[in-house]
Amino acid sequence: MSDTILLTVDHVSKTFPSKKSRKEVIRAVDDVSFQIEKGKTLGIVGESGSGKSTIGKMIVGIETPTDGTITYHGDKKIGITMIFQDALSSLNPRKTILEILGEPLIYHHLSKKETLIQDVQHYMELVQLPKDAIYRYPHEFSGGQAQRIAIARAISLQPDLIIADEPVSALDVSIQAQILNLLKDLQKEFGFSYLFIAHGLPAVKYMADEVGVMYQGRVLEYGLVDQVFNNPKHRYTKHLLSANPIASPHLRNMELIDQPKTNHSKGCDFAIGCPNANETCYCKQPKLSGGLNHQVACFNAKEGE
Ligand code: ADP
Ligand code: MG
Repeated sequence: MSDTILLTVDHVSKTFPSKKSRKEVIRAVDDVSFQIEKGKTLGIVGESGSGKSTIGKMIVGIETPTDGTITYHGDKKIGITMIFQDALSSLNPRKTILEILGEPLIYHHLSKKETLIQDVQHYMELVQLPKDAIYRYPHEFSGGQAQRIAIARAISLQPDLIIADEPVSALDVSIQAQILNLLKDLQKEFGFSYLFIAHGLPAVKYMADEVGVMYQGRVLEYGLVDQVFNNPKHRYTKHLLSANPIASPHLRNMELIDQPKTNHSKGCDFAIGCPNANETCYCKQPKLSGGLNHQVACFNAKEGE
């Protein structure tokens, strides 16, 4: 095992009981494998409901996998913190920033009472907020500033990995770039890894070294960001990269026209309407395959296509 690997997700699945029927389950995450390297960023992209957050929750331990294993490498327990889309609601409205940032520092023995104010101010400076703002309450900050506070809290615990679950999705476009730059700068300075979750491709392209494209709990394409973005192999990735991607239910309905339905549910979700589909595609679900730097779940993905 290479000592640059921080954690390994190995054939992990997560099902939830379906509210509709007792016999059915929701396959939130379905046989997903990947590794996260030290100091690197793995991006996960996919539309709402594709299982991105559930992966993050299993890594941090809020959810347990139904199947498969998550291994944290190295001889010490790795530290993992999270930042979320809605920063403001992740900050206790009744506490000052000094309390919000200070209490975990004391609890984890990362600061002492005598130096707490300076330590908290230091983290405020790292996220480019005024030092004297530590006596204010969360509601006194804008969305972007609240996300900076959440980032300060995440980095102050000296994590090895930060799970950033759509950290800029709720922010104005102009603010998004600032927050992404801050996240990048902090990673350069402190060397932690990110699992960077997004539903849009541009942010992932900017942030990540490697990317997994998710659809309904499965990874359809995985690889180095340059490879996946410059040479997308899966129909779905190409669709996401097209100028006007549409949400999957519509995509699917459109493509169901005039198509055979036999064995459809067993096979590839994208066989219908696919110019390269053959019999196998309608009977078997393709698994990720390919080289180390670029893999695709497609029986017919051709080089250079
Ligand atoms: P994403 O973050 O990509 O939007 P999620 O991981 O939140 O997707 O959800 C994936 C699927 O699992 C969705 O269909 C969602 O409704 C379902 N799901 C997530 N958490 C639960 C839960 N605690 N109970 C039941 N279903 C859940
Ligand atoms: Mg989510």
